Amino acid sequence: MSSYRDNLDVSDPYEAHAFFLCEFSCDNCGETMPPPDGVTGCDDASCCRLADQARALRWYVPAPFGPERRSDIQTCYCPECAAKLGFLG
Ligand SMILES: [Zn+2]
Repeated sequence: MSSYRDNLDVSDPYEAHAFFLCEFSCDNCGETMPPPDGVTGCDDASCCRLADQARALRWYVPAPFGPERRSDIQTCYCPECAAKLGFLG
């Protein structure tokens, strides 16, 4: 049993994206981030690891926006496209 955290937080855009889509696939170029070693499912712990890796590799997922803090959780961009499209500072 993994000791990795499994407290998935769907208010976090990366974790919400992992939870609903179960993968990080770039909306612009279609590249899919290879999951971390040992992550094959879509249980909470796997989603946490996917989200952490996506964040560490600088994939871009839009933050919640607007007065209702709606999240565009369907969207994500690979690091190259995020930089090209000006989403990363
Ligand atoms: Zn891309």
